[in-house]
Amino acid sequence: MKRRNFFKNTALAGAGIGVLGACSSPQLALQQEKKKAKNIIFLVSDGMSNGTLTMADTLRYRKDGKASVWLDLYRDNMVKRSLMDMASASSIVTDSAAASSSWGGGHRIPNGGINVDRGGVEYTPIWQKFKRAGKKTGIATTVPVTHATPAGFCTNSRTRNDQAGIAKKYLDHGPDVILGGGQNYFDSSHRKDGRDLYADFENKAYQVAKNKKQLNSINRGNILGVFDNEGLPYTLDLMNNKDIEKDIPTLAEMTQKAIYLMKDHSRGFVLQVEGGKVDWAAHANDAGALLYDQMAFDDAVGVAMDFALQDEETLVIITTDHGNANPGILYGKEVNENFDRLHQFKATNDWILQGITPNDNVEFVRERIAFANGFGITKEEAKDLFNYYKGLEKEDGLYNYKNLPFKKLSRIQESYHSIGWASGNHTGDFVELASFGPGNHLIDGFIRNTDLHYIMLKATEVIV
Ligand SMILES: [Zn+2]
Repeated sequence: MKRRNFFKNTALAGAGIGVLGACSSPQLALQQEKKKAKNIIFLVSDGMSNGTLTMADTLRYRKDGKASVWLDLYRDNMVKRSLMDMASASSIVTDSAAASSSWGGGHRIPNGGINVDRGGVEYTPIWQKFKRAGKKTGIATTVPVTHATPAGFCTNSRTRNDQAGIAKKYLDHGPDVILGGGQNYFDSSHRKDGRDLYADFENKAYQVAKNKKQLNSINRGNILGVFDNEGLPYTLDLMNNKDIEKDIPTLAEMTQKAIYLMKDHSRGFVLQVEGGKVDWAAHANDAGALLYDQMAFDDAVGVAMDFALQDEETLVIITTDHGNANPGILYGKEVNENFDRLHQFKATNDWILQGITPNDNVEFVRERIAFANGFGITKEEAKDLFNYYKGLEKEDGLYNYKNLPFKKLSRIQESYHSIGWASGNHTGDFVELASFGPGNHLIDGFIRNTDLHYIMLKATEVIV
């Protein structure tokens, strides 16, 4: 896995004073305040509770001997740290659509919509404002590119669920770089209207990539890269399956490519990077999926920081849109050994549960979990789990996700890996926000979600 290298890349590392000394120098801080941001990289780990950030850092340190990039930015005093209130217009607990719209449109709207308020009022999304100001715009995500978080920066839609409609809207005023999942919303065989949106994008001078090889071969111009039908596979499943690994880029690779394609634009670029499946894993209480995807997001933070440190004209914002499920490492005698079992994980709970059918047996369930997690559960536990499959029907070769015993499996795993969960849904916690580079002095210690919209415009001196 890629590790951060910004210390070894700086002259300061050799001088032995560290970046801490540099960033806390009053002169440098002043210079940074005066400078305008040419670029913005906005990184959002979707649905990242504080426990997720903590556990990914602890896991990475105990496994690789190096902590996470994000928390090292705190440890080394490299960034400004703030808390942000993410409430929506309709609820103290936001969904991703209202959350992204609060940053994207500068207004709190009810949950479920994309920059559309009560009464149908539409707010102009921020990537459109930047596009008008002459900047290149981009999105890179591990979920469909038409999903709530990228859409909130790019477009308007009464409902987040109209992903086929959102894909079409990207044609008119969409970002220059579009990377992630969601073939179902572009491919003529999946779209209800039968329209081939890939052809439409090609007619607008986009280059289309559907696998990693094609992505690697594109080195200039606009790109639509869509690498799976819906979300991309979880990182943990990707790491252990060479067949899919060769076709699907990581979030860090997509971030790297997006920056590369836009960095030389004379008027700068703005890029949103989303670790979207952190949220999906939290909904499913799937510890392996959650933490390996959070670490993959952290790799993308490393890529963004490496660029920003060299470029010196890029405002980097690292945050989440809401907590989800509030997981944590639970006290107990064996907690260290239990938590370290995560090092050996080979597959997600999604992989475990999707692969069991009513025709299998209790022993098969135990073997599958032993393979994925490296520990054997008891016969009783396996029996409990297997009972859920009686009467379950598969649709299109896949189970209805909601009917699978994700909660049950995570309760069983809890005594083996010592990770507990408060729920399977979003939480109303104030969220972490780290910022680096020109303009970060505009971000106070505690802000409202909508403030970020205006801060991004002010930092770049874009007048709208
Ligand atoms: Zn969610």
